[in-house]
Amino acid sequence: MEEHIGSCCCGDIEYCFKGDPINSIFCYCSECQSLTGSDKWFGIWVPKDNFNFTKGAPSTYSRVGDSGKKVNYQFCGNCSTTLCAEITVGKFNSVSATSLKNNKFSPKMSIYTSSAPSWALFPENVPKFDILPPGMGG
Ligand SMILES: [Zn+2]
Ligand SMILES: [Zn+2]
Repeated sequence: MEEHIGSCCCGDIEYCFKGDPINSIFCYCSECQSLTGSDKWFGIWVPKDNFNFTKGAPSTYSRVGDSGKKVNYQFCGNCSTTLCAEITVGKFNSVSATSLKNNKFSPKMSIYTSSAPSWALFPENVPKFDILPPGMGG
């Protein structure tokens, strides 16, 4: 299986995931805006079992998601880069595409667009969903 590696800004934390992601999304929810200082988070969804930290120990910030289950953000305590968000209800990690060394993925859908700021940018020809697509839980 193909390996994908990434790291935080300062290099203290590194990770690796194997194989193809199950999804790649632009998320415009208010939490993602706060975390990124931007209109969206570019998340690469990777099954939890395929993802490992390979250097350093990330700090964790947890909040309760729309599902009522926890979302655990893993970030570098030194440079504050968020590397991934563990979506416990779906047993996958939403890996920050901008932390990947060679990101070859492109967004397949835009989600939580109802929370997007008025100045948000949306990619062309990518389906938009007010919150999540039907059947994706949340
Ligand atoms: Zn760092
Ligand atoms: Zn979000």
